[in-house]
Amino acid sequence: MLETENLRKTYPTGDEALCDVSVTIGGREVVAMIGPSGAGKSTFVRCINRLVEPTTGHVFLDDCELTGLGDDELRDARRDIGMVFQEYNLVERLTVMENVLSGRLGYVSNWAALRRNFPPDDVERAYELLDLVGLDGMEDKRVDELSGGQRQRVGIARAVVQEPKIVLADEPTSSLDPETSRDVMKLLTNIAVDRDVPVLINIHEVDLAEKYADRILGLHDGELVFDGPAADLTSESKGIIYRGEEPSESATAVGTSDSTDTETTGHRAKQQSLMAED
Ligand code: ADP
Repeated sequence: MLETENLRKTYPTGDEALCDVSVTIGGREVVAMIGPSGAGKSTFVRCINRLVEPTTGHVFLDDCELTGLGDDELRDARRDIGMVFQEYNLVERLTVMENVLSGRLGYVSNWAALRRNFPPDDVERAYELLDLVGLDGMEDKRVDELSGGQRQRVGIARAVVQEPKIVLADEPTSSLDPETSRDVMKLLTNIAVDRDVPVLINIHEVDLAEKYADRILGLHDGELVFDGPAADLTSESKGIIYRGEEPSESATAVGTSDSTDTETTGHRAKQQSLMAED
């Protein structure tokens, strides 16, 4: 479970990017963080893994306070956070499998990593994940031969092979076309159920957030102004989050009747029933 307590970030420039943001995210929740450009979405995600140092406040992952850790402990704790990036952050000249296995680097010794000598269990786990993300049979392809959507699938597999306690996705669809964006959102919702982890997605396309997330966090000027089920995001609440700015939508309207949507609904229904049993 991720918990932030009064998280505040003021950059040295004086920009107040986050003002006392307190949220708890757990279970198999898929949570979308939305808000206008400059609202603090990226800063929030980066404060969690301390790529940005919060000015004040606390971040807990289960019973570990991330904000209290020194460099070595933080390096270990980051294994528990799977990161998915807008620009994928893959090593282009390496293969799909090598990129996925790089997610295990935090677990193997430096010597083993240098020799790319991964334990058989890690390799097996990586194959399993390639299957899950729809890239089975592509393990030997170089990443620079892949499409954007395929690269993001590699990025997701790399994040999940870590066996994280939470997956954080920072604008995972911003570089993708609308159809591929929907596929990536579906995949992230499947990951939450299949791996039993919460997924926090910082996203600017509101329609994708509403369609795929269970819960929405709305930021405006660093303040959390909405926190509730996606179904409760009314046009009034969007008005509060965006205040005069037009919320971004993905380029093509998202329908509800195509076959893949039915599949997603199935997964969401499964997730809901699983959560109800908890
Ligand atoms: P979003 O992801 O919602 O677009 P950001 O977290 O990137 O928002 O930015 C929030 C605010 O913090 C903005 O006012 C932005 O200009 C400011 N900001 C972000 N990064 C920095 C930085 N490295 N130095 C100074 N100000 C920053």
